Amino acid sequence: MTDAPWCILQVHAHPDDEASKGAGTTAKYAAEGVRSVLVCCTGGEEGDILNEVMDRPEVRDNLHAVRMAELEESCRILGYDALHLLGYRDSGMPESEANARPDNFWNAPLEEAVERLVRIIRAERPQVIISYHEDREWYPHPDHIRVFEITEPAFAMAGDPDAFPDAGEPWQPSKLYYVAWSFARVRALHQAHLDAGMESPFERWFEGKFPDHDERFTTRIDVGAFMAQRRASLLAHATQVAPDGFWMKLPDELVRDVYPWEDYILARSLVDDAAEGREYETDLFAGLRSPIADLGGARA
Ligand SMILES: [Zn+2]
Repeated sequence: MTDAPWCILQVHAHPDDEASKGAGTTAKYAAEGVRSVLVCCTGGEEGDILNEVMDRPEVRDNLHAVRMAELEESCRILGYDALHLLGYRDSGMPESEANARPDNFWNAPLEEAVERLVRIIRAERPQVIISYHEDREWYPHPDHIRVFEITEPAFAMAGDPDAFPDAGEPWQPSKLYYVAWSFARVRALHQAHLDAGMESPFERWFEGKFPDHDERFTTRIDVGAFMAQRRASLLAHATQVAPDGFWMKLPDELVRDVYPWEDYILARSLVDDAAEGREYETDLFAGLRSPIADLGGARA
């Protein structure tokens, strides 16, 4: 056990990914005083404007700056302590013009991108890193694939003194998680829409491609007390999320009742299995620190 300052570092592809994946977890740990660090790999320049009130020339022409401002507001809401930009341009979807640009994340030399991430890991010294899994079917965005591809080696190399010797003092993180939506979560939210007499936005998720890999999930974080921050962080991305859109229809109280968790896959661990016979880990620091009083899990 160590009493080092606790730190979680998350690697996300675009501004808004930090709001749609693991946002409740971020808010929960930030409320506990855990240092929260975001690495955002691209500027989201190729994102479509999905909220028609924001689809204006001055927004379209300044999408990078607008999305950076949205990201900063989202980080403030969730309690992030630091935001690092990996410095690449959005890669767009395969075969688009943007996807051919040499300054995008997809076309950057892998080693260069890994070194940038290693440098940030060594400076921030997180025990826990959160990234994406290797899925290329359900959401084959090149930037999301790339997040997986750089985090795997960066996790291993950050602690290796022979790797990137000029990128800071070695630091070995202890656990690597993938954040993902479980099928159990999709099913629960889908059913909640139907039970409330609403059309379910998850209908198409049942059409075959969404990976049912629920047996891989090891960890459930109860974020029931942090629904408001999660919703507000999504809404901060006004170009991407309309207040009456896809993600917003089901009231937070209902979501809290049917599925108050965010789900994770423990992909690498250098600590003893800390699940202690439980079905799921309930703390990303399990095995690293003693269980502490749950500051955020109480449900009304
Ligand atoms: Zn994204």
